[in-house]
Amino acid sequence: MKGPPVASIVFSHPDCLTHVTPPGHPECAERLEAVAQGLARLPVTRRDCPLAEDAEILRCHPAAYLAKVRRAVPSEGWVALDGDTILSPGSLTAALRAVGGIAAAVDAVMAGEAVNGFVAGRPPGHHAETATAMGFCLFGTVAIAAKRLLDHHGLSRVAIVDFDVHHGNGTQDLLWDEPRVLFASTHQMPLYPGTGSAQERGAHGQILNHALRAGTGSAAMRAAYDQHILPALDAFRPEFILISAGFDAHEADPLAALNWQVEDYAWLTRRLCDIADAHALGRIVSTLEGGYDLPALQASVAVHVGVLEERGR
Ligand SMILES: [Zn+2]
Repeated sequence: MKGPPVASIVFSHPDCLTHVTPPGHPECAERLEAVAQGLARLPVTRRDCPLAEDAEILRCHPAAYLAKVRRAVPSEGWVALDGDTILSPGSLTAALRAVGGIAAAVDAVMAGEAVNGFVAGRPPGHHAETATAMGFCLFGTVAIAAKRLLDHHGLSRVAIVDFDVHHGNGTQDLLWDEPRVLFASTHQMPLYPGTGSAQERGAHGQILNHALRAGTGSAAMRAAYDQHILPALDAFRPEFILISAGFDAHEADPLAALNWQVEDYAWLTRRLCDIADAHALGRIVSTLEGGYDLPALQASVAVHVGVLEERGR
């Protein structure tokens, strides 16, 4: 007999620190140390991310792309896949830990070992398209997890909520023709990567993009969720919610200007827990995407996972 589920499981791995970017690059290993400090006092269960099997990557990416990334990894120094997506000797292993972590997190939640989970991994994933690394991302971590829930665990409806300040063009690309996944994103526009207009709906009308203007703050964000995203989630009745948790909409972030506050991440996480409680037995797995001001990242991830833990009890 297994015991009652724990509230939250947090997956991470020291290998995710060995993805090293050049000095001054915003997606740096210190981000993960800030996240670890933010989570240090939370009474969560902690586990190491296993390495993803190749088959996990192949849920969303062609074998030729995985082989290309594998071949490109340098034995020393750096290789640039595009202007800002950099490989160091540890990058592939780090990315495989991030994907393996989210796979293990969804497995733990589906097995009833925990109500919800958070994956503190890097590099992030939501900009990686089918055969294109971009925007600091190699593999579409959250899209791969959605496919695992559908094709391995047999679920019928999975929602992905992406509150990173940048549009999750990769997640959208990987799931464009996937009617079983509602992909809902808020993001600043105009901003990198340039996609994410409301007209981009997916092959089955299952993609919901809600752009926010630079300089708007908490009220605009809460209205977007209250009036658009949360009603769509409620109508979709997801059996599981995945979150692309980027914290770069915080007002201190150097890459964007949406001016969200730490308390906004608590508010939003509570609302997503409400949807998960109503339709998905509370099941949520969240994974780290962006967030480049280290104190803001530390404080924001602490309230995000703090709410998950509190609501998972
Ligand atoms: Zn971002």
